[in-house]
Amino acid sequence: LHVDHPLGAGQTVGLSREQAHYLFAVMRLEVGEGVLLFNGEAGEWLAEVIVANKRNPVLVCREQTGPQVSPPDLWLLFAPIKKARTDFIVEKAAEMGARRIVPVLTEFTNAERVKVDRLQAHAVEAAEQCGGTFVPEVAEPVKLAALLDAWPKERSLMFCNEALVGEDRKLGGAPGPWAVLIGPEGGFSDTERSRLAAMPQAQAVSLGPRILRADTAAVAALTLWQTTHGD
Ligand code: SAM
Repeated sequence: LHVDHPLGAGQTVGLSREQAHYLFAVMRLEVGEGVLLFNGEAGEWLAEVIVANKRNPVLVCREQTGPQVSPPDLWLLFAPIKKARTDFIVEKAAEMGARRIVPVLTEFTNAERVKVDRLQAHAVEAAEQCGGTFVPEVAEPVKLAALLDAWPKERSLMFCNEALVGEDRKLGGAPGPWAVLIGPEGGFSDTERSRLAAMPQAQAVSLGPRILRADTAAVAALTLWQTTHGD
């Protein structure tokens, strides 16, 4: 379970109302039973239930059961699509070890309003589900042009370019931080393409001989990055 709370031996830990409901009304945990907790910084901890009450539960940290494992410095930039597919992208990016997830508004993005809180909750659930100790941050949506204007010099950008479909354009190896960029269903505009082509940090890559749907492309691109640059 992810908690926004310091974790350490003997530390009492508070839970959100939803977490307390889940543990004590749904899972029916009892006094003396254990729960695994993480806060994104202190690894995994075993906490003991001292008071099993869904209004005022008390948990106390007993021992650390795993180290903190934080993913490599990889951002996923993606143009938001339909709600369920955007949820899917965030969930998979959290499972695949993205450190930061940024919805980008490109010229052809035509998504409904992006609800960052809801996406952040999906990232937390995904991290809990896969036994991770780290939750990626979901950033506020930002215009692609503005993001590229302020692009950090040292961060490489894997530009997944559907116009290269069928070409043999593989991901090269640059050390340091990275970001993966996936476009919307309508693809990138010519202006965006030339802007990206002029950026020394950007590497245009093909994800194979077929045009993938944006949500598939996000998973394929993260997999490709993890196999060549991940740890
Ligand atoms: N409307 C575009 C077209 O017909 O050319 C397709 C856009 S595709 C559904 C959405 C995004 O997924 C693209 O902008 C790109 O970032 C990525 N993508 C999909 N297939 C790809 C491929 N084979 N190579 C590189 N990127 C790909």
